[in-house]
Parts: sequence; structure tokens; C-alpha cells
Amino acid sequence: MLINFNRVFLFLNMKKFGIAVHGGAGTILKSKMTAEKEKEYSKSIELAIKAGSEILKSGGKSIDAITESLITLEDNPLFNAGKGSVFTSAGSHSMDASIMSGKDLQAGSVSSVSGVRNPILLAKAVMLDPDLVMISGKGAEEYARASGLKFEDEKYFYSEFRFQQYLKAAENGKAMLDHSTFDESDKKFGTVGAVALDQYGDLAAATSTGGMTFVKFGRIGDSPVIGAGTYASNNSCAVSCTGDGEFFIRTIAAYDVSALMEYKGLTLREACEEVVNRKLREIGGEGGLIAIDKDCNIEMIFNSQGMYRGFSKNDGEIYVSIYN
Ligand code: ASP
Repeated sequence: MLINFNRVFLFLNMKKFGIAVHGGAGTILKSKMTAEKEKEYSKSIELAIKAGSEILKSGGKSIDAITESLITLEDNPLFNAGKGSVFTSAGSHSMDASIMSGKDLQAGSVSSVSGVRNPILLAKAVMLDPDLVMISGKGAEEYARASGLKFEDEKYFYSEFRFQQYLKAAENGKAMLDHSTFDESDKKFGTVGAVALDQYGDLAAATSTGGMTFVKFGRIGDSPVIGAGTYASNNSCAVSCTGDGEFFIRTIAAYDVSALMEYKGLTLREACEEVVNRKLREIGGEGGLIAIDKDCNIEMIFNSQGMYRGFSKNDGEIYVSIYN
């Protein structure tokens, strides 16, 4: 066998890079999944990882890699974000997204928008605007139009499955998470997120969601809240969360992982354990998070039954898993 020493040299000198992606945590049981559905979910997570990983491999930035990963998930009807977003009590869609760059702590966030095809692109546009960090509702839609972002009509966001979820929630008059029954033990959060480290040592995190079915009163979860659902700092790590949004806001979960590393010297694993399996658990918060640190350690941790998740590093191998 001929060894190409040039390639080996390039590989050995390539700086570390990695990306992790989630498609929501919750009661995801093998017994409730068909082999076909499982394959569909796994394939979708794999494609999202691949989209980001190729950018990282060719020397692209972590912020662009996670954006591309999230676009594939927002365009995928399987997940509660973008096209697959759940219905609000008004029968419309209310999407949230946020993104953060660990290099300079730039952040962009958008909440309660409808019609925007890719809310993550809107969050990114906000991040790049020196005057803004967080915008919402009609004003945010106006901003999206002015930024030339793509809009879609109601038909694009419609799916029979989501409509049936909406009817069920309407019957009970209560908002529900992305799951199809009112059984409290059957929760599923379909939010999507990505975190990455690029070859320049820069970290980035992003999260996007359609929120909760039949949601009222303009409820906003953790996903667009910088520090709660999303956080990134080159001093520590990049984090994207999924789960009971109110609990993640109360624990400032994403920032807490970063702070535990930065101020208390915890490892990424210790910090994630502390937040997900102690702080959130103690107050009844269900869900999980994905995180990556500056040394390219990756954690994908959850206190629920499962989490759609996966990652890839320099070797190009893609690892995807769903259950505990
Ligand atoms: N965290 C999201 C929210 O509370 C839900 C999810 O993760 O699916 O809006």
C-alpha cells in the first residue's frame, strides 16, 4: 500500500474541529418508534451534521457551520422548527431562534415570528447588526423582509400531523409540548440546535423552535433567550438546550454550564452534569443539551428518555443516537 505522506502530514496538522446537533429531547421510546421513522430521524440528524461538518473541514467558520446545520433541520417537517413548527392557539405559527458567537460574544435572537422560512437566518442577521440583539413579532418580520429573507405561506408550514396535535390541544384548551397525547409522561420537545468548534478555535451555538402547540399569551420559551437556551464563549464552551423552556430560563441553563467551567474550573462533563442532572432535575425541569468546549470535547446530556442527537469531529465519522 502506498502512503501519501503529504496527506498524512496535512491531517496531523489540521486543527481540531467538531460539531454536535440535536433535534429535541423528551419521551422518545424505542417501543413507540417504527424502524422506518427511526431511520428518517437518524438520517435527518446525519444530514444536518454533514452540512456543518463539511464547512468546518474546508476551513469555514463555526458560526456558518451551525447555521447550515440548522437550515437543514428547519426545512425538515420532522422537527418542531421552521417548516415543521407546531400551531399556536390562534392556528398560526410562532417561531423563535437564537445564535451566538463565542469569539466576540456577539448574539442575535428573534421571537414570535411567522412566515419566515428560516428563523435562524433572521437571528444571524440580527447578530450581525451592531444595534440589535433581540427582536420580536411584526417588527422582526419587517426586519426579515428588509433583509431580503425568504417568506413562505401557510401551506408551506401545514402538516396533517401538526394540525391533529392542534385539534387535540384545542379540545383540552391547554398548551402542550411537541407530543401527540395529553399524557404528561409522554413529552417530546422537537426544538433543534447545533454547537461547533472551528479550526481557528472559535465556538458557536444556535437553537431554533416552533415553541409549544396551542400556546397562548405570546408565551416565549428558552430557545431565543441568550444564556438560557443558547450560549457560547471561547473562554469555556458553546451550548444549545431543549426541554421545558420555563425551567431552562429559571436556571439560565446554557450560561450556567459556561460559568461553571469559567469560574469554578469544572470540566465540560462536570458542568453539564451539574446543570442537567442536578439543578434542572431538582426543580422538575425535563430536557437536555448539547455542548462543545475549546478542546473539542463534546457532551450530549439529557434527563429525559431520549434526545435526537449526533456529532462529528476531524475523522469525519458521524455518530447519531436517539435513546438513553
Ligand atoms: N425549549 C423549547 C420551549 O420551551 C421546547 C423544546 O425544546 O422543544 O419552547
